[in-house]
Amino acid sequence: MKITGISATWLHVPIPPERQHASDYGLSSSFDTALVRVDTDAGITGWGEVRGALPAQCNCAGVCAVIENEFAPLLLGEDPRDISRLWEVMYNTDRAHFALARGHAFPNLGRRGVNVQALSGIDIALWDIKAKSLGVPVWQLLGGKRQAKMLCYASGGWAPADRIAEQLKAFLATGGYRAVKMRVGSGDGTLAHSVERVKRAREALGPDIDIMCDVHGTWTVSEAKRFCRQIADCNIGWLEEPVSPDDKVGMAEVRAYTDIAIAAGEGEFTRFDFRDLIVGRCVDIVQPDPMLMGGITETMRVDALASAFQVRTAPHLWGSAVGFAAGLHCAAAAVGGFILEYSAGGGNPLINELALERFPTVEGYLEIPDRPGLGVTVDESVVARYRKEWRHLSPANGG
Ligand SMILES: [Mg+2]
Repeated sequence: MKITGISATWLHVPIPPERQHASDYGLSSSFDTALVRVDTDAGITGWGEVRGALPAQCNCAGVCAVIENEFAPLLLGEDPRDISRLWEVMYNTDRAHFALARGHAFPNLGRRGVNVQALSGIDIALWDIKAKSLGVPVWQLLGGKRQAKMLCYASGGWAPADRIAEQLKAFLATGGYRAVKMRVGSGDGTLAHSVERVKRAREALGPDIDIMCDVHGTWTVSEAKRFCRQIADCNIGWLEEPVSPDDKVGMAEVRAYTDIAIAAGEGEFTRFDFRDLIVGRCVDIVQPDPMLMGGITETMRVDALASAFQVRTAPHLWGSAVGFAAGLHCAAAAVGGFILEYSAGGGNPLINELALERFPTVEGYLEIPDRPGLGVTVDESVVARYRKEWRHLSPANGG
């Protein structure tokens, strides 16, 4: 089997004002993502996804350009099933032959950021192709599923103190969830507001609902410690990215200070970044994003590394049905997999619109699908509706 084509499509979905949310990343006026398509001479098409950046609204022109201009020429004519080899080709580019022959990394400058994001989208599509060619779901190739269904948590929670209880209750009701994640941090204006929002949420939801808090890396070590002390009686499930991903020493300091589990990793790239989080005793839970950090291949490597330290894996999932499926397959087979992030903002239509299949949760659990590949049939009419031209755009001409 040979790769005959690789293309990237920027999907730009405007979000109506009543479904937008505000956070430290600004107003979610659109949801943007890049869909990767890999075609083969066997008639099998693989789908992948890559986000341009973490906010809902983001520019995907850069990742699309790397996919089509840098990686497609390297991969055309190659066997898509040699995923480990093609991962090295994309990560090490000119020196891939050294990496393949000697068994260690020889990356070029693109060993973080946009290049690894682009690599991730292609990697996901390669797994889709390989599993489809064998007629099995991706999780089957990753070692098989560990459970028939997986616990999911509703991820959202941006409302101010006077409306947070109502918003979280609405999220919980959509899928019978027993766990929910809310945003806290600098977007709240003051630390006192963050504390009040969490206290109101716990009071309204009662003791039996798991509440996780996501700081988006916006606090100092001191602020994070004060927050942990002030919400100590709220029984928080985990505290996510209390400080910047660039302050791993600070994150370890926060973790040492509190008995609240610390989760992080959505801004990290490859197993090398995660090694530093894990060995530095920064986290109890790693959150690799298969759409950003190195695809399905690298997510499973991080899970194995984490599990040797009794650190669990909860993939960061904030994309369309394709990216969600990638995380679902990883988590289903991962030794440290125990929970899935399910975007509950309502502002991300692609999780339910882009594919013909749905991912319904029942009493907070999602049944692991048995469909071949990622188990996602991309609705091309949705792609056509939201396609945004990126090839000749620049900020100067409206891109
Ligand atoms: Mg997060």
